[in-house]
Amino acid sequence: MRKIYIVGAGPGDPDLITVKGLKILQNADVILYTDSLVNDELIAQAKPEAEVLKTAGMHLEEMAAIMIDRVNAGKMVARIHTGDPSMYGAIMEQMALLKKENIACEVIPGVSSVFAAAAAIGAELTIPDLTQTLILTRAEGRTPVPEFEKLRDLASHHCTIALFLSATLTKKIVKELRSAGWKNDTPVAVIQKASWPDQKIVRTTLEHLDEDMQKNGIRKTAMILAGWALDPNIHDQDEFRSKLYDVSFTHGYRKGVSQ
Ligand code: SAH
Repeated sequence: MRKIYIVGAGPGDPDLITVKGLKILQNADVILYTDSLVNDELIAQAKPEAEVLKTAGMHLEEMAAIMIDRVNAGKMVARIHTGDPSMYGAIMEQMALLKKENIACEVIPGVSSVFAAAAAIGAELTIPDLTQTLILTRAEGRTPVPEFEKLRDLASHHCTIALFLSATLTKKIVKELRSAGWKNDTPVAVIQKASWPDQKIVRTTLEHLDEDMQKNGIRKTAMILAGWALDPNIHDQDEFRSKLYDVSFTHGYRKGVSQ
């Protein structure tokens, strides 16, 4: 069956693509990529004779028509997405159009910006005894969010929350989290362009989030991580040490020592 590759490019640093994704990129005859968010340095790995197309100015049908045409001509086609294709990648609508033409898709995962952002600040998003859950979501702007997924409801879990596509919606974020009982001093980290040379890190609190975003002029390509796991001083707090490494804890690979 004819097939198109949907490849996660990773968050920006060209070295953060998977080995599998890179091989596909290097072998593809046709490459379509989101030029606003995928690093050109990565696309430069394509073979010189490859047809490389930017998709930022294209609409869905236009893009699908090109992919269908090239696959039917026997070409190897790769669609390169930023981060991991499964998060806000709009891949389902592309796949639906391709399926109608009996073209299959193979998705190659990528490093999502949420994990590049956490890495940039050396954060663990799940701290034992503090939170064991990470919610990946977005604040509601022009794109509606389903009724049962309102930020204030999600925030009632008091776990770590990662907000995509929300840099201009910080007033709303603060309001929603507050109404879920989040305190003003809850730590928030904003990572703009994680893993790019011009990466910017802003550590703040719920109270100062909006003001600090304005001050730093951050309006796009930013990941907002909120919750006590983002406390910059977390390393100093012994009670959050994982039970997994605690001497009294027995698990499958190691017998615990009782104290
Ligand atoms: N599929 C992508 C997300 C695409 S939606 C992924 O897995 O990362 C685009 C949003 O992702 C941006 O608004 C921003 O919130 C986030 N984003 C993408 N690249 C980023 C980066 N390098 N640093 C911080 N946030 C990024």
